[in-house]
Amino acid sequence: MRVTVVGGGVIGLSCALRLAEASHQVTVVSADATTDTTSVVAGGLIYPRHAEPADRCARWTEASVVEFKRLADQPGTGVRMLPGKLLRRQDRPVPLWSDAVGGITRDTGVGAPWVDALRSRPPLVHMRRYLEWLTGEVASAGVRRDYRGLRDLGQVEADADVVVNAAGLGAGRLAGDSTVIPARGQVVHVADPGLTEWVVDEDDFSYVLPHGDHAVCGGTEEVGSDALEPDPDTTRDILRRCGELVPEIADAEVLGVRVGLRPLRQEIRVERVDDVVHCYGHGGVGITVSWGCADEVVALVTG
Ligand SMILES: Cc1cc2nc3c(=O)[nH]c(=O)nc-3n(C[C@H](O)[C@H](O)[C@H](O)COP(=O)(O)OP(=O)(O)OC[C@H]3O[C@@H](n4cnc5c(N)ncnc54)[C@H](O)[C@@H]3O)c2cc1C
Repeated sequence: MRVTVVGGGVIGLSCALRLAEASHQVTVVSADATTDTTSVVAGGLIYPRHAEPADRCARWTEASVVEFKRLADQPGTGVRMLPGKLLRRQDRPVPLWSDAVGGITRDTGVGAPWVDALRSRPPLVHMRRYLEWLTGEVASAGVRRDYRGLRDLGQVEADADVVVNAAGLGAGRLAGDSTVIPARGQVVHVADPGLTEWVVDEDDFSYVLPHGDHAVCGGTEEVGSDALEPDPDTTRDILRRCGELVPEIADAEVLGVRVGLRPLRQEIRVERVDDVVHCYGHGGVGITVSWGCADEVVALVTG
């Protein structure tokens, strides 16, 4: 079948690769280079926070973890398995997805202000390297790239048997769905002082994710804001919070500040309507569920 995927971020490219592997003739149409997407700004931790529908997200995560584990064994993918801890300030059940990341150990000895830490060894993805690798895989699989912004899906429907709407924040407008909104995220890249663990404080949105040549320090989630300029006060606040979380990064050299707009929706939408398969609204978990969603898109395209 001829399939046009709209969107060249992590979701569009993962769908495109799986579709090409299933012998479809695939074109990716995207307004921006993959290096200018939200996906490249992501911290790259495979963990599905606040994601709905929870049962499908747990399944998508499970499928993605299997694939990321496989990629962690291959050079040049930007994927590795790294231990770390998710600090929590309130007593909550161990989440549904704990099995999906290969099991979690609950540590109640972390001290105030935290009540516990969930320790695990999930995949951690260096996003720039990973998206470069994924771009190469998509090209090697024979996928055509077409760089242009679409006003509506009708512009590509005549050239395809099925269109996949994987345009992130732009997908809502293309689908006539006003429930997709931006959730601004600002992060600071610092020189990685050789950290061997990632740390996330789930309740105040602070995190330090080491990638070797840099560590991603976060973060913010400003629902409704689409401001792409970095805010200097936010940068200072992130560095203060992360320095408290991981003292080794307090004096680390600042390499840059990045901003991305998460495509937020109450529920991730993976659904076929006539000859359009929608796959958008991944909010803060797009990397985590990417391969599971791509597998489902292939099943929906094939019918
Ligand atoms: C600071 C930050 C940290 C994050 N950390 C993590 C993390 O650790 N783990 C995790 O799982 N997730 C994380 N996320 C979330 C993750 O980045 C997103 O869920 C994911 O990138 C969404 O991917 P996407 O492909 O849907 O969108 P995007 O990457 O935004 O790609 C959208 C694509 O659609 C194209 N497009 C849009 N409109 C049109 C149009 N009209 N015509 C043609 N093309 C169009 C764009 O050009 C682009 O190619 C983070 C996000 C941020 C901002």
